[in-house]
Amino acid sequence: MTKTAPVSASHPLPQRDGARAPDLAAALRRELRGEVAFDDYSRHLFSRDASMYSIEPIGVAFPRDADDVAAAVAVAAEFEAPVLSRGGGTSLAGQTVGAALVLDMSRHMDRILEIDPERRLARVQPGVVQDDLNRAAGKAGLMFGADTSTSNRATLGGMIGNNSAGSHSVRFGMTVDHVEALDVVLSDASRARLETVSADELARRAGAQTLEGSLHRELPRIVEAHREGIETGFPKFWRQAGGYRLDRLLRDGGYDLARLVVGSEGTLVAVTEALVDLVPMPKVRVMAVGHFESTQAALAATGDAMERDAAAVELLDHAILELAKQKREFRELSTIIEGDPNALVFVTFFGDTEQEALSALDGLEAAWKTNGHGYHTLRAVSAAEQAAVLLVRKSGLGLLMASSQGSRRPLAFVEDTAVDPAHLSEYVAKFTEILDRHELEAGYYGHCSVGCLHIRPFVDLTKPHGSRRCARCRRRSVRSSLPSTASTRASTATGSRAASSTGASSATTSTRRCATSSGCSTPTGG
Ligand SMILES: Cc1cc2nc3c(=O)[nH]c(=O)nc-3n(C[C@H](O)[C@H](O)[C@H](O)COP(=O)(O)OP(=O)(O)OC[C@H]3O[C@@H](n4cnc5c(N)ncnc54)[C@H](O)[C@@H]3O)c2cc1C
Repeated sequence: MTKTAPVSASHPLPQRDGARAPDLAAALRRELRGEVAFDDYSRHLFSRDASMYSIEPIGVAFPRDADDVAAAVAVAAEFEAPVLSRGGGTSLAGQTVGAALVLDMSRHMDRILEIDPERRLARVQPGVVQDDLNRAAGKAGLMFGADTSTSNRATLGGMIGNNSAGSHSVRFGMTVDHVEALDVVLSDASRARLETVSADELARRAGAQTLEGSLHRELPRIVEAHREGIETGFPKFWRQAGGYRLDRLLRDGGYDLARLVVGSEGTLVAVTEALVDLVPMPKVRVMAVGHFESTQAALAATGDAMERDAAAVELLDHAILELAKQKREFRELSTIIEGDPNALVFVTFFGDTEQEALSALDGLEAAWKTNGHGYHTLRAVSAAEQAAVLLVRKSGLGLLMASSQGSRRPLAFVEDTAVDPAHLSEYVAKFTEILDRHELEAGYYGHCSVGCLHIRPFVDLTKPHGSRRCARCRRRSVRSSLPSTASTRASTATGSRAASSTGASSATTSTRRCATSSGCSTPTGG
């Protein structure tokens, strides 16, 4: 590890435009091998992510390795500057903007260190992009299970930070389900390996008079003291991305400190290396696209698909379909869609053989017919048939983001619902009422199989009533009669990033300015 010379910093760095920023930059340049950028242009670039928020960072560092990350945390601590880890910056709730020293892990720390096909494991640096990992693992018929729509730019570090999950999460789970061990930098710049340990090993590690030692001492104690609350208080709904995963500390008779920090949004540790497990790539995939006269009718058809072990069930509503029809790249859509549906449901089945996958598809088509769900089912079996279907399905959010008219944009302030799928239809009906009351329109799309819908109301934040409507609408959706299991990732992440005694980051970004741009990510996912 780079030896960090003590840096004199008698006064904390002001949150913004600090007079001591040049000193911090100079200290970082002395200690890090990676670049350090405190110029206005870089700070402007890093003031945005894919969310509607904009906050200029104090500066940006591009660590080359774990030593650089540790050195940056040590130097930032001397100046009392918060630290904010960043991967692809595709977060939707403002997680990667803040008045902090941003550590961009994507530029240099992007190596796949090892793939072990036998044990189905991969060891990666945090800046590895998911598609790159999948290309490498694909040679052995494996892939990373959590398949986000942003897989061509989302990094493993960011996925661990967000506890990301994708279309097939009902089959493959979330990132938290695939993390085996993490090498991390803690808030005192010390390094630690977080992994599942036996009770004996826990006791051994807990004996160390270090921050890592105190984590191994204190966390099991906290979990034990609050065992009942953890068992009963965590939502039963499994696709959760918010909060610290105290419910994951106990694992296989041991203690798993790695999974505990997945989803902690960079507030607990800076991840410098990850050991993740891989899943076998599906051998055969077939798809059904149900055509429906309303979003409610589409949601009601989800159950039949789930009963047949669908690997994904996704909704696209009329707002997105209309946008797709206007784009040249989606012109094939008009040749495959039957009539003028108000909503489409894309159902994916995997199988070891074509026969297995097709029999599920046949079963669904028959069930939808018998139960009166929808008026047409498109079968996409060949690779060519699936290509056009997938293009549209994956582009939901991209299409929405690109549909901005001037300053009227689809904004993510009630994004990523976490609703028990059984209540999804009720949720959408009530949420639509709230939108109507505030004269807002929205596009709906997402994963009905797991109750995760992306809802993006169109709002003009440059108008005085714009942000008021946003705030009222969000308050009502949280407080009102929506099903009590509902929560949103955005609503948890746009609050303050609490400083943590165990954390590498003390980014206290209490105020977030709304940006009038939808961020720096390329909106091609969905
Ligand atoms: C069009 C679009 C579609 C999307 N679709 C999906 C989807 O299908 N599923 C889904 O889950 N999400 C989705 N997202 C959200 C986002 O793309 C994913 O969560 C993605 O995995 C984030 O990766 P990233 O590299 O961009 O992370 P970032 O946004 O850079 O960071 C994410 C979080 O991780 C933290 N972090 C980053 N690196 C580290 C590190 N080394 N150590 C500790 N903390 C770190 C950050 O501080 C932040 O809190 C979508 C976003 C967009 C714009």
